[in-house]
Amino acid sequence: MKKLCLIFCMACIAFNASSQRTIIHCGNLLDGKTNDVQSQMTVIIDGNKITSVEKGFTKPASADKLIDLSKKTVLPGLIDMHVHLEGETNKDANLQRFTLNDADIAFRSTVFAKKTLLAGFTTVRDLGGSGVNIALRNAINQGLVTGPRIFTAGKSIATTGGHADPTNGYRKDLMGDPGPKEGVVNGVEDARQAVRQRYKDGSDMIKITATGGVLSIAKDGSNPQFTDEELKAIIETAKDYNMHTAAHAHGAEGMKRAIIAGITTIEHGTKMTEEIMDLMIEKGTFYVPTISAGKFVAEQAKVPGYYHPLVVPKALEIGPMIQQTFNKAYKRGVKIAFGTDAGVFPHGDNGKEFTYMVEAGMSPIDAIKSATIVNAGILGMTDKVGTIEVGKFADIVATDENPLKNIKTLEKVSFVMKEGVVYK
Ligand SMILES: [Zn+2]
Repeated sequence: MKKLCLIFCMACIAFNASSQRTIIHCGNLLDGKTNDVQSQMTVIIDGNKITSVEKGFTKPASADKLIDLSKKTVLPGLIDMHVHLEGETNKDANLQRFTLNDADIAFRSTVFAKKTLLAGFTTVRDLGGSGVNIALRNAINQGLVTGPRIFTAGKSIATTGGHADPTNGYRKDLMGDPGPKEGVVNGVEDARQAVRQRYKDGSDMIKITATGGVLSIAKDGSNPQFTDEELKAIIETAKDYNMHTAAHAHGAEGMKRAIIAGITTIEHGTKMTEEIMDLMIEKGTFYVPTISAGKFVAEQAKVPGYYHPLVVPKALEIGPMIQQTFNKAYKRGVKIAFGTDAGVFPHGDNGKEFTYMVEAGMSPIDAIKSATIVNAGILGMTDKVGTIEVGKFADIVATDENPLKNIKTLEKVSFVMKEGVVYK
């Protein structure tokens, strides 16, 4: 009995220690709800949640921990809807498909996850890897690894020879015939099986490659790669498991088919026509532009030998188009969700996307909202993240300058908190 009591007492002490409040004095606060900056505000955190947002600088009680951000602008943790945490661009990327084991990929991914979090991105959507990204999510959730909260697609779904067929470019005896388990589908039954397999694997959502892509070893970067029936089967099955869907798409035809079939987000959207923009507005489809990736691959394609010869012309054609497409889609009223395709360019540079969006005509506040409240909505997380409000997770970042006046300040955030824990 005495022993039991001691355990309870210790639990009680631990509970009291963890319930020490954190008081943040914010020089400026952009709560993500309103469009205005509020000056001299206090955010109070208990455990992993925000418990109060108050005007002025609230005096901390003796047990409270004070964080002084009175010279900074404080905003909600950022959300990137398109990253690949398993890898990062390098000239040996193709060779590494044969030399790296899952364990090698896993160790690397922890480094990329940490870089992403320290860049202010407290939540990300991982749009495809080998499946190691599922283990990474779990390790972060368990507190074993430092990184953002991850919503992962696991391995993307493609068709034979399509953008996410993992054996593209292999020698014939290695190429084999990967099936729905590996995410390569041909026909409606395969399509359903691939979605169900991902659910079983522990994926949070489904990613498909609706058209050709830039970095795969295949000739066409834009052609449609699924039939209407296959798309319908994937999206319907995903809905059965409460999973939303994302489609990589550069070319118009594949993009259009995916939108009609009910896809949630279109990634890249490079050759989006006005007709498609109107269709997206009508269907409520989100556009995730990934301007950063377009700019990066267009530049790298000029470096001799960096990409495979089949990749270079695609990178030069498609890369520079995305920012223009974004400008037109935003002006026309397509819903914009912030996403970068980090991994195609170095992790941690995700914040540059804000600069590119504003450069292309978006207002700074809309760019910030696209990376906070809008993305929280797509992830079904509006009650937990996306704004600085009572009851939400204490996912909080701060910048040296007011981002509404200088958007570039988001490229280098100076403070990062995720669920009440300070990482930077
Ligand atoms: Zn991608």
